[in-house]
Amino acid sequence: MLVTTSTRRITVARTVSELRAAVDAARSAGRSVGFVPTMGALHAGHATLVREAARQHGTVVISIFVNPTQFNDAGDLQNYPRTEQHDLLVAAEAGATIAFVPSVDEVYPHGFATVVSGGPITEQLEGAHRPGHFDGMATVVVRLLNLVRADVAYFGRKDAQQLAVVEQVVRDLAIGTRIQGVETVREPDGLAMSSRNVRLSADDRVRALALSRGLRAAQRVADGGEHSARTIESALRAELDGASLATDYATLVDAATFRPVDVLDRDCVLAVAATVGPVRLIDNVRLAPAAS
Ligand code: AMP
Repeated sequence: MLVTTSTRRITVARTVSELRAAVDAARSAGRSVGFVPTMGALHAGHATLVREAARQHGTVVISIFVNPTQFNDAGDLQNYPRTEQHDLLVAAEAGATIAFVPSVDEVYPHGFATVVSGGPITEQLEGAHRPGHFDGMATVVVRLLNLVRADVAYFGRKDAQQLAVVEQVVRDLAIGTRIQGVETVREPDGLAMSSRNVRLSADDRVRALALSRGLRAAQRVADGGEHSARTIESALRAELDGASLATDYATLVDAATFRPVDVLDRDCVLAVAATVGPVRLIDNVRLAPAAS
């Protein structure tokens, strides 16, 4: 199937064989292939990943698949926004040329039994709060990477721990696709773009700003030369508490292991997860020791 916009066209592949045929045709024409895996409900963050891929590759595959195995909460899976027609237009406009939009049975055919686990990183932060989430994510990403066989796959730093797990798995399993991180895309007021933001009420949308405001405050504290993790985290927590958010974690971790640190003495990630109304949001900022 082909979807056309005023300026672009995108081939929609719903089966593995349609995907293979479309990618093989691109390879035969000598084009390199970039890949952007998504769960749909596309926003400007996803479009940035696609544009980055299109800058570097003649063919860009986007997958749109709400992966049931990475949801640890049935309500979250059920309420996850699904906007396929909109997604195809956004993806095409951003430069995607193939959309892989499979059914659950196409991704997990009868008899599918393997689980990919990303090791110790998956036990920290999101892994501790969402049992099974990273196994489900890593399993579907490995399957998608093997189906698409792209040169480069693009992942957002908004999901920094996810990116670290994907890098680990791709390295360990010698998957031939290079993984490239892309900076977090934010609304003008700082809120990290997320497919879940559409479920925020106007009031909750304002309260949600505490995450990015807190991260910026903590960044300023770190840039001022503070090394104590607890002091840096306090600047973030003050904003979260001020907005009365239910916080799962607001923790400075080692950027390689995602283990909590006491001192900002290496590359770190300050990561936050908090629930705002009906929506659980995550955000993060990378912090390095201030130059002395
Ligand atoms: P999702 O559809 O939420 O699973 O996200 C698909 C990809 O888009 C993942 O690599 C995300 O990290 C990335 N992504 C989601 N939101 C943003 C954002 N605000 N900025 C950059 N990348 C993002």
